Parts: sequence; C-alpha cells; structure tokens
Amino acid sequence: MTTIVQKFGGTSVADAAKIKRAAQRVKQAKDEGHGVITVVSAMGKSTDSLVDLAFQMSEEPDKREMDMLMSTGEQVTISLMVMALKELGIEAVSLTGWQAGIRTEPVHQNARITDIETSNIERYLDEGKVVIVAGFQGMTEEGEITTLGRGGSDTTAVALASALQAENCTIFTDVAGVFTSDPRVVNKARQLKSVSYDEMLELANLGAGVLHPRAVEFAKNYAIPLIVRSSMEEQEGTVVEEEASMEQNLIVRGLAFESGVTKVTVEGMQNEVNTLTNLFSTLAQSGINVDIIIQQLTEDDRVNVSFSIHTQALRETLNVLENNKNKLNYTKVRHLDQLAKVSIVGSGMVSNPGVAADMFQVLSEQEVRVQMVSTSEIKVSVVVEEEKMTNAVEALHTFFELDEKVEVQANMA
Ligand code: ASP
Ligand code: MG
Repeated sequence: MTTIVQKFGGTSVADAAKIKRAAQRVKQAKDEGHGVITVVSAMGKSTDSLVDLAFQMSEEPDKREMDMLMSTGEQVTISLMVMALKELGIEAVSLTGWQAGIRTEPVHQNARITDIETSNIERYLDEGKVVIVAGFQGMTEEGEITTLGRGGSDTTAVALASALQAENCTIFTDVAGVFTSDPRVVNKARQLKSVSYDEMLELANLGAGVLHPRAVEFAKNYAIPLIVRSSMEEQEGTVVEEEASMEQNLIVRGLAFESGVTKVTVEGMQNEVNTLTNLFSTLAQSGINVDIIIQQLTEDDRVNVSFSIHTQALRETLNVLENNKNKLNYTKVRHLDQLAKVSIVGSGMVSNPGVAADMFQVLSEQEVRVQMVSTSEIKVSVVVEEEKMTNAVEALHTFFELDEKVEVQANMA
C-alpha cells in the first residue's frame, strides 16, 4: 500500500460545505487504495480572528499563550473533517500535532520541526483509518505547544510525507497551481505545469503565498514531489520537483512582487572591519528582518549602508537605530518608503548571461527607476517605486515570454 499525504488550506475548509467537499477528496484517495494522511488548516480566516482577539487583550501578547490560542484553529477543522468522513462511511481519526508525534524546537510562534515520532499515525494507518492531522502545530520536548509560523500547515504536510516516506504530497488550495505571477494582478499570468524546487523556493521566499518556503525546503531535501492543485476543480495542478526541464526555453519561469517596502540608509559610519557586523547584529537582535543590503564608501572614507525592510518594521527599525546611535556611531538615518520589490526567477539564468541587463533595459523603457538590486544564481530582484510596480511586472512578464503559451508537452519521451 502506498501512503500519500494531502493538505487542505484554510480557504478549502472555510465552511461546513467546503469541509464536506474536501472530505469527498479524502474519500476518493482512500477508495483508490492509498494509506491517507490529511493535514488541515484552520477554517477560513479563523487564525486571523484569533490573532485579532489576542491583540485586543494586549499590544504584545505573550508568545506561549499565542501558540496555545492559535493552535486551537486547526483542532476545530480536524474534528469536523472526521465527522464528515464518518458520514461518508470512511473510518478516520483526528490527531493534534502533538498526538501525531510532531516535535519542534522550543521556539514559540515560529518553531522548526525537529523530529516526528510516527508510531501513533502508523498504528491508525494499519487499522485502515484515514489520519487527519492538525497542521501548523507541534510540541517541544518539555511538552509545550508550539506553532510553525503563519502558513505552516504546508510544512506539517511535507514533514509528514518525508517521515512516512509517502509517495507524494498534494497541497489542495484555492488556486489551480503555481502561476508565472500573481493572476490577481497580472492578467496574463498562466499556470505552470512544473517548477523546480529551487525556483519554487525563490518564489515562495519572495512571497508567492501558494506554498510555505520551509515546506518547499523540506520537499527538496527529501525529494518529495509536491503537487499544488485546486480543491474545487478537477484540473491537474503544478508539480514541484527536482528538474522542471520540460518548459526549457523559459529563462525566467516566474515573477514575484511585493509592495510595502522601505529603504533605510544609515550614513557616515566609521569604515571599520566590524561596522556591518555591529549594525546588522543590532538589528537582528531586535528581530528586524533585513532584505537587500547595499554598502557604499564615501569620499571621506565613511560608510553608508542602505537596506530594505518591510514598511511595517520601520518604526521599530528607527527606534533601534536611535537607541544604538552611540554604539553604531553614524551621522544620519534616512528612509524612503512606498517602494516595492519586483523579482524574476528562473533556473535558466544560470546558463544565460545578460538576464539582469535585459531586466534593467525593460525597466528603463518603462521609466522605472531602480533603487536597489540583489541577485542570486536564479533570481534578480529590484526595488522600485510602489506606484510603478504593476507596470514593471507586466512589462517584464511580457518581455520574458511568460504571457504566451510556450509550454511544450509534458511527456516528450
Ligand atoms: N492556520 C495557520 C495560518 O493561518 C496555518 C496555515 O493555514 O497554514 O497561518
Ligand atoms: Mg497556506
């Protein structure tokens, strides 16, 4: 018997009717003769509602209690799902993260899974039961409830797939698969048949919300094929796998973007060997997530450093810098907000020089000024004015031939 893992996201279990519908999908897999483990998210936006409640109690809710609270969302879904399955004549059992043996490091709100003790799940599978597991949660060695970070149910699913050596892991969601770009913004975005782990990892880290980055990392490390598909429609989804070579010719496979970016510049620091360490460790210690970094040497041998952050973190960042002014020994801090990050991603870049140059050319034709740049082997990101973002994205999407139907048959052999 093959084991498969499925996961249903919040939108796919948003109400009673949707849970029943998802249950049909679970039944289908079970009827096909698989051992089935199904991971579910909290219903609809219920995690958001819980967070909202917490912030009505406190401006800075206790992290342990946040995990206690947030882990309840998924527990609602697992029990309802089992009830729905029993109505369909399917034997099933619900398990919380800790009952499912999911152990995490002792970190609240963003814990990593360290280990999965699968004996409980395996026992139920042996009894022929479908096992419904609460996503996004685990337990530390000390028995503390933890959560895996927003969107973490994907990670639960992939981690279970690897621990149970499942055939594959299907993420059922409210979109048809992975797209070249966000179809809500880019009209001409189209669905990809396949995408490589590395490309998906870049896209997910860039905020393509369809998969949790850590889940992709996991899938890559354990070579688990990930299938992303709609829970509403029958059509095939997108396969995330090692080599997405069937759509070669595509130098750029996807385009990601996000608004709400701010560039902060710290000016006039001493040009010393530990200047950058001091600055960024100070920011890191305050939990400030920095993205693109640019260092510049001034004529009078001072150092100016610019970095980008989420605009939400601006106040905190300015506070931290102000509180550490003596230690960091800078002359001035400036910031520029209402920026956006636009990125192109594709493994084809590795062997095709000039992709960044093409990108800049397209942007300059659109009169989009580039504020910051960062690259990896398979990605180029630029920071631009927020109001130019959609324009830039559409022009790049067209230029890199993502609009047209260039997919070749998935099976050429
Ligand atoms: N319910 C959690 C969230 O909304 C986890 C998930 O859905 O993946 O972030
Ligand atoms: Mg999600």
